Amino acid sequence: MIKVCKFGGTSMADGINMRRVADIVNSDPERRYIVVSAPGKRYGGDGKVTDLLYEVWEEVQRTGAVGGAYRKVAARFTAAVRELGLSLPVERLLEETAREIEKEKSADFTASRGEYLAGKVMAACLDVPFIDARDVMKFAPDGRLDSDRTYALVGEALSGKRRAVVAGFYGETPDGKVKTFSRGGSDISGAIVARAAGAGVYENWTDVSGFLACDPRIVASPAGIRSLSYRELRELSYMGANVLHSEAIFPVREANIPILIKNTFRPEDEGTEILPVSKYRYGDRVVTGIAGKKNFTVIHLEKSLMNAEIGFAHRVLTALLKHNISFEHLPSGIDTMSVVIDSEYLSHGVLEELCEDIRAAVHPDRMRVFDDIALLAVVGHGMSKSVGTSARLFDAIARAGVNVRMIDQGSSGLNIIVGVENENYERTVRAVYEEFFGR
Ligand code: ASP
Repeated sequence: MIKVCKFGGTSMADGINMRRVADIVNSDPERRYIVVSAPGKRYGGDGKVTDLLYEVWEEVQRTGAVGGAYRKVAARFTAAVRELGLSLPVERLLEETAREIEKEKSADFTASRGEYLAGKVMAACLDVPFIDARDVMKFAPDGRLDSDRTYALVGEALSGKRRAVVAGFYGETPDGKVKTFSRGGSDISGAIVARAAGAGVYENWTDVSGFLACDPRIVASPAGIRSLSYRELRELSYMGANVLHSEAIFPVREANIPILIKNTFRPEDEGTEILPVSKYRYGDRVVTGIAGKKNFTVIHLEKSLMNAEIGFAHRVLTALLKHNISFEHLPSGIDTMSVVIDSEYLSHGVLEELCEDIRAAVHPDRMRVFDDIALLAVVGHGMSKSVGTSARLFDAIARAGVNVRMIDQGSSGLNIIVGVENENYERTVRAVYEEFFGR
């Protein structure tokens, strides 16, 4: 079996951690293709190389040349190479990179150099070939990944190589410019390599031992999630952002490649596996996890005979489109419909304009706006199979004295979304966790 391993920023933070990475890779001959992030924080309060590189880009825009921020980046890499005792000519590499940054004059190019340099160092440390993501990860003219071309090029680059290191986070546009994925995007690069390599597993090595059943800032030491399905992970995506980029599952899911989240600093921990539904056994577990987020706005519309009015929802959604707003949920009743929107979209008078447009488009009998709403997603395949889950859920929320503002049972049948006031969010999460996970 081929294992593709992606190592995140903390795992790559300095020479000592990179040594750990090399030990993990070398301990298993199936770990063949390695994707790396740029060095992250070494300790609380430390900077991430990618953030420093965005500062470098500001310097270059201001003065035309790299300056103090680049020296900090350079110091991180020279120290790592020294700690690892490598003969890599790192000074020369850093010098060339500085000149390229000044020549290319692009934010994305500058930011991508963290992964580029980290990849070079890791390849030297493992003594395996380095693959520049620019040569193999290709974007289409619309800015999306050209997946067919990319899988073919990555496959070609890997073929015949027993092992290789690929730089994460970036690729190249059709006009030959470096473009990065969104922040945290090395997870996506790792998934692409796993897919292209026909991997049996995509190991994502980070600094936690997998997903937890809820936010540890709200419930102290929540239970870990040993395994979950791709679909559950999508429904829980509010909580996963810091563990796994939400777009990283798409390339591997198409090919049913499991993802295994592992902790570089506790490799003996089992971690979390993310599986296709067909391979996933949830046993008698009812709820797999609870995730949520504050600050949504609900626009609630009422109109008699809404159900018989052709094009009602279409007209509401057209108003959203006009303002370039995506909606989060759309619960509806026979004469009612609510549009749940991330409040971030609605500042600076956008909400007022949007409401005006909706009013003009559908003439509702009544329209109400609630803001400061938090959404809580309670997720698990087991929920649809066990009698009384929603009774338990709403009973627990009622016992906590929280008023439910909105309910939406996702059409997938594996989640229930509950809207509560922002100020009640933490209390609700604790009550629901206690109900399904407390003993
Ligand atoms: N280094 C990039 C970031 O900090 C990408 C990554 O680490 O996945 O966002």
